[in-house]
Amino acid sequence: MLSIKNPANGQTIQTLEEDTAATIAAKFARASGEQKKWAALPYSNRAAIIARFRDLLVERLEELAQTMSQETGKPVTQARNEIRATPGRIDFFLTNAESAMREELAAESEATGGTKEVISYEPLGVIANISAWNYPYFVGSNVFVPALLTGNTVLYKPSEMASLTGLKIDALLHEAGIPADAFITIIGGGAAGSALLDQKIQGVFFTGSYATGQKIAQAAASKMIRVQLELGGKDPAYVCDDVNIENAAESLAEGAFYNAGQSCCAIERIYVHEKVYDSFLDQFLKAVKGYSVGDPKSDATFVGPLTRAQQLDILEAQVAEATAKGARVLTGGKRLASPGNFFQPTVIADADQNLRLMREESFGPIIGIQKVRSDAEAIERMNDTEYGLTAGVYSKDEKRAHEILAQMDSGSVYWNCCDRVSPRLPWTGRRHSGIGSTLSVIGIRAFLQPKAWHLRAPKT
Ligand code: NAD
Repeated sequence: MLSIKNPANGQTIQTLEEDTAATIAAKFARASGEQKKWAALPYSNRAAIIARFRDLLVERLEELAQTMSQETGKPVTQARNEIRATPGRIDFFLTNAESAMREELAAESEATGGTKEVISYEPLGVIANISAWNYPYFVGSNVFVPALLTGNTVLYKPSEMASLTGLKIDALLHEAGIPADAFITIIGGGAAGSALLDQKIQGVFFTGSYATGQKIAQAAASKMIRVQLELGGKDPAYVCDDVNIENAAESLAEGAFYNAGQSCCAIERIYVHEKVYDSFLDQFLKAVKGYSVGDPKSDATFVGPLTRAQQLDILEAQVAEATAKGARVLTGGKRLASPGNFFQPTVIADADQNLRLMREESFGPIIGIQKVRSDAEAIERMNDTEYGLTAGVYSKDEKRAHEILAQMDSGSVYWNCCDRVSPRLPWTGRRHSGIGSTLSVIGIRAFLQPKAWHLRAPKT
């Protein structure tokens, strides 16, 4: 049995029956049996169902937000923001999926000396969607919406820490009209995910940590199936000496502490030009001290509890190492004594590059800040981790920012903004941050396989 706990007080909300290897195999057989029928429906039928799902998200916003907030600890205002922003992503897919699937004429036969060349796009088949808990609507719908629109059937495993939300998504998709066997939910943790990978799936789309991503890649390797991994980050930002300090500090503090820092693209380390270092620290601290920490049910809360209790130990160890090696804790640094997985918003200045705080994903309300002397030094430091998800620069000078961002080895780059995802742009990580892209037309094609047609009319 899977026990769902409220991270704000440690109390059990509900227990759920977990899937076993046998029930997962049976679910795979159902999804496999349905796939050709689902793909054979006219595109407009599939799109109409997804549009109804979109409308149901809008209609049930409050109930869905309360469930997500209760089981993950996400402040309810931020839970509402996530659900409110999901229809915009779905609209992008609804507008662009049909054209992404359309057959393309590569060459007329006259151009090739007699052979017409055509590219068609076919669904992969049955795909596994193994998901994370931190933004279940975003990371889930980035996968299952385009997968379903393009004619795949989906075995969806929400995180064990967002299972109630996963079941709500399941119920809404079926209420909207998705056939029972075209989208099937699997409940459980790592063992259920692993048993899902034992099935003859044709693709695995995973969102989660680098450590689990490695296991997924290994399990999928011998199957030769489509593998897409959206993993963690250690996202840096650089504050140049020409900025409006207050604006940069406010933007970066929000990027670091939104959802208690539990975003794959949260700001995790900041490099500040020495000329503005002290004034930046003052403004940053002012912004962080303004955040209210507490009950995620309250509309006034900005920083709630951590979803995973184990993360508190990681944050404590990062703080202990940083202070032992000469960094300064400007605020926070400790877990709260009250029940629940609360950690004080923590700002650490003079953080050396070799600290775990500056190299390993913290995934919590903590930030390391370091002084740099030049753009060149900032560039070198920003690229100096195994992760490559996002990187940002704050500067008044567009040319300077552009030159720095062009040298970033990361999937997304930001000028005077951070922690931003757009459905029109590919969401993609490099190195330990992942393989492949969701969102954008590239993220629709991820669910399709091309077929090359060489068509020669018989000689008469
Ligand atoms: P996680 O790796 O612990 O778990 C992710 C999923 O994998 C869960 O559903 C889990 O049950 C499943 N799983 C665990 N072991 C498995 C196994 N052996 N085989 C198959 N499935 C298995 O990650 P998490 O704690 O849920 O999420 C946090 C991580 O996700 C962070 O590193 C964060 O940066 C990353 N993330 C990345 C993105 C992105 O778009 N790049 C988005 C959100 C989260």
